[in-house]
Amino acid sequence: MRVSAPLLDYQNVSVYRGDTLALDGVSLRVAVGEHVAILGPNGCGKSTLIKTFTRECYPASGRGESSLRILGRQAWDVNELRRMLGIVTNDLVDQCTRGMSSDFAELPRRVTARDTVISGFFSSIGVWAHHDVTPAMRETADALLARLGVAHLADRLLTQMSSGEVRRVVIARALVHDPSSLVLDEPTNSLDLRAMRDLRGAVRTIAQSGLSVVMVTHHLADIIPEIARVILIKRGRVVDDGPKDALLTSARLTDLFEMPIEVVRRGDLYHAW
Ligand code: ADP
Repeated sequence: MRVSAPLLDYQNVSVYRGDTLALDGVSLRVAVGEHVAILGPNGCGKSTLIKTFTRECYPASGRGESSLRILGRQAWDVNELRRMLGIVTNDLVDQCTRGMSSDFAELPRRVTARDTVISGFFSSIGVWAHHDVTPAMRETADALLARLGVAHLADRLLTQMSSGEVRRVVIARALVHDPSSLVLDEPTNSLDLRAMRDLRGAVRTIAQSGLSVVMVTHHLADIIPEIARVILIKRGRVVDDGPKDALLTSARLTDLFEMPIEVVRRGDLYHAW
């Protein structure tokens, strides 16, 4: 399904985590097809923002008028919303690797790459006896594994893959419903240099195919050339939002991370020292 409403349209959204005001009056608008990186130091509210997409966190009432629309709608069935957004968090990667969901007391079960992708059709972790897996689902799963450059791993268990390979498989899982976006939470955490390069290459291909890539990160090098816009978050507030060449500067990032940072641009990529 393709829609013309903005992918994200947040007006004055505040979220408490316990007693902490984790998002403080966040307003942002992201169009379908637009690629953005959301950048900020640990604890600034990046994961909380993603949890508003997945409906694990809800806006606080009583902090002024606010609205949170995703693809033009305020009210969503959570599973439908997750399917439309194509969300890959590190929690999901862990659950897929362990073959076990944190939501259900399912028995641990180790799954192959193909089954992991197919499980996306059922919003489950792993494929279970009651799931009716069709040949079309298998074909889609294999095509998506190929798109992510891991077709050769289709029959391998996730527990026998590198972290970078697992992540690409879980990204393939997020694409089974042809979502409007791919939302990535710190996608290169704990990856080595080669795995980072391969993952960024795979995400570039997806960005070029017309889906919005919305990436939350604290690594400048994750900001692939296709991402033109960055949103800087500090202490739960959007402190800057604009073109990356204007915002990814030593002065702005020194201020954002509250430590001296030198930003170096090489070609279309940025690095921080
Ligand atoms: P980030 O992802 O940018 O590191 P988070 O969104 O995880 O930041 O956290 C934002 C703020 O909310 C931080 O101050 C953090 O300590 C707090 N926080 C996060 N999770 C919880 C929680 N479950 N209970 C209480 N405070 C939390």
